[in-house]
Amino acid sequence: MNVLITGSGGFIGHHLTKYLVALGHNVRGVDLKHPDYEKTSAQEFFIGDLRDPAHCKLVMKDIDEVYHLAADMGGIGYITSKLADIAHNNILIDANMLKEAAERRVRRFFYASSACVYPQELQETPTALMLAEDDAIPANPEPGYGWEKLFAEELCRYYRKDYGLETRIARFHNVYGPLGTFVGGKEKAPAALCRKIAQLGVHDSLEIWGDGLQTRSFLYVSDCIEGIYTITQSNKPQVFNLGSDRLISIDGLVGLILDIAKKNPTLIHDMSKPQGVRGRNSNNRQMERELLWTPKVSLEDGLRATYRWILQQI
Ligand code: NAD
Repeated sequence: MNVLITGSGGFIGHHLTKYLVALGHNVRGVDLKHPDYEKTSAQEFFIGDLRDPAHCKLVMKDIDEVYHLAADMGGIGYITSKLADIAHNNILIDANMLKEAAERRVRRFFYASSACVYPQELQETPTALMLAEDDAIPANPEPGYGWEKLFAEELCRYYRKDYGLETRIARFHNVYGPLGTFVGGKEKAPAALCRKIAQLGVHDSLEIWGDGLQTRSFLYVSDCIEGIYTITQSNKPQVFNLGSDRLISIDGLVGLILDIAKKNPTLIHDMSKPQGVRGRNSNNRQMERELLWTPKVSLEDGLRATYRWILQQI
């Protein structure tokens, strides 16, 4: 099949590109930039801005399936500081891509949504509820980034209803792994912590954003890629959580990385830094029941591979 991957120069898009090429598909990648740490394996790679409808039209030519992952996004520091730009950029990209895919009558359209769509009032304690797909409405998502993702999910449903576009949607929960951004301001907690720990000198202390008691679950990138493919190839158009349901505090995550790195610094909690919702976990029951998918890679193994890769980069 001729497959288009938007955001193919980004972290998850690059891993997905490798996976679909290895399965024998003809992949066209598109992004504002080439992948940061490896050469792309896509047969074709277009550099361009998907906020421009003309570019969306160009890249969609002769495409059978779209995996739409391009987005202006980053870790909690980034998404809480750029509400207008992120919402503006992403709604243009998503609206353009859906319209063009519907007009081209592509066979499938996968949309990468986020756990940031869930209502903030369900995430106010560290002993977080496992958020199930239906919990997203009534809505009160993360400002900017989360509101846009939720609306784009709705837009997928409208295109499905009005145009018969076969949309598939996953809400990713904190995906991490090698070849992801680990420096520069857009990195997320696992990569940022691996970098800080890899760079620690013997007498250095480790700075952690917030009190460290905030909780999350983390999904290793290879599990995410298999989940994306499973959802896209299924006959199930409903939204799926794509995450791990192993809840851990940020201090707990730090402890695992310190064990791997064999370091023992003093921890300094910086309360002036953003920490996002207090607790969030993924309810995976729908994925298990409908698609027989569960994550395979343990947090310890995933962090070991991520830490080792970041250490090499440094
Ligand atoms: P990423 O930032 O590494 O990849 C996104 C890519 O989109 C980048 O390479 C970027 O250059 C590209 N892009 C941005 N604006 C563009 C534009 N105007 N035109 C063309 N390309 C553009 O992020 P990622 O972690 O690989 O995330 C992939 C998708 O998954 C995104 O849609 C993101 O919102 C979603 N997501 C990721 C996570 C996670 O934990 N990584 C969690 C929830 C949702």
